[in-house]
This record gives sequence, C-alpha cells and structure tokens, in this order.
Amino acid sequence: MKQGRLFIISAPSGAGKTSLISHVTDMRSDIKVSISHTTRLPRPKEKDGVDYFFIQKNEFDEMICKDEFIEHAIIYDHKYGTSRKSVKKITDAGLHVILEIDWQGAAQVRKQFSSTTSIFILPPSMQDLEDRLKKRAQDDDKTISRRLTFAKNEIKHCIDFDYFIINQDFDISVRELLSIIDSEKNKISNLNYSDVLTKLLN
Ligand code: 5GP
Repeated sequence: MKQGRLFIISAPSGAGKTSLISHVTDMRSDIKVSISHTTRLPRPKEKDGVDYFFIQKNEFDEMICKDEFIEHAIIYDHKYGTSRKSVKKITDAGLHVILEIDWQGAAQVRKQFSSTTSIFILPPSMQDLEDRLKKRAQDDDKTISRRLTFAKNEIKHCIDFDYFIINQDFDISVRELLSIIDSEKNKISNLNYSDVLTKLLN
C-alpha cells in the first residue's frame, strides 16, 4: 500500500493559511489535514473534532506523558499538539497529510521525519496582515496587536522551511500550493517500485 507524504504548513495568524488549506483539501480527495488537539476554547462556529479536538490541560498533559503527540507547543498561552493517531490514520490510507502547525512544531516534526516538506505562507505586507485580522473580527484590539508582534517572530522562522508562498492572490496561492505538493509527491524517490515499475516492466 502506498504511504502518504507529510506536509507542514505554517503561517502567522491571519495570513490566510486555513482558507488556503481548506480550499485545497476540498479540491483534492488525496490530501487531508490532521486535526490537532488544543487546550484553547472553541471560537464561535468552531466544532470539536472538526476544527480541533478541544481538550482540558490535564488531558493534554496526560497525552504528552503517554507520548501520544508527534509534536506539541505552547502558543498564545495555550497548548497545541499533533497526535500520532491522527497522522497515522491518514498516511496509512495512502493519503497525503497536512500539518497546520507553528514553527516550533515544524522543527520537532522535521527532526523525526526526514521526508517531510515544509511550506511557509507569508502575507504580502504587515498592513495586509493587520487588515485581515481586523476583518476576521475574532479578536479585540489588544489581541490583534499581540498577534502582530507574534507574527513577526513567526515570520523570522520561514528560512527553515523548504518553500514559501506569498498569499496575495488567493487563486495563485492555491495553484502554487498544489504545484508544490504534486512536485514533491512525484519525486523519483517516491516512486513505488512494486506498484508501478513491476507492472510496467513485466
Ligand atoms: P489558532 O488558535 O488561531 O487556531 O492557532 C494558533 C496557532 O497554532 C497557529 O499558528 C496554528 O498553526 C498553530 N497550531 C494549530 N495546531 C497546532 C498543532 O497541533 N501544533 C502546533 N505546534 N501548532 C499548532
């Protein structure tokens, strides 16, 4: 059975990462997003088991103790983590998995899996990022200013990633993301000898 590939996608809050990813996964049945666990409270319209698995701090800590996370990090005072089970379920089905995680998590995943591809989504400008955060109307002014400071720190880490996308035009960004995913999946090192070559050459 073909194993799916692991893609990490990071971006500062408001760069449009979630919309981009959900558009790509709607278009492509071979790409799924791993649902993370978090200790933060759900925002309006967010659903448990769909956007995140919303859990209590003690449950999160128990999962850390049981080594159930591939990676975990503290972001904006809340804990976030990717469970091994979520990722395995997707890759075992032969599908590609996207981890929508921050740079700290990305660094942990890269250390464990040599064949990951990491993509960083950049906003066209800080003003654009601020406008998007305000338009989203999910946070108060204090939180927005905190997110902007945090964004600058996050952006500094984009040099550790394999690819970047500047999310100015949504359709172009979707195309760029799909082209990165497809180029990686079609690398000769991913060619499954028994599946493809044996049939072709016998
Ligand atoms: P939000 O609370 O706005 O949904 O997400 C805040 C940040 O947490 C985003 O940068 C998002 O990518 C990151 N994040 C979400 N899930 C995970 C995870 O499982 N692990 C890590 N390291 N970061 C995550």
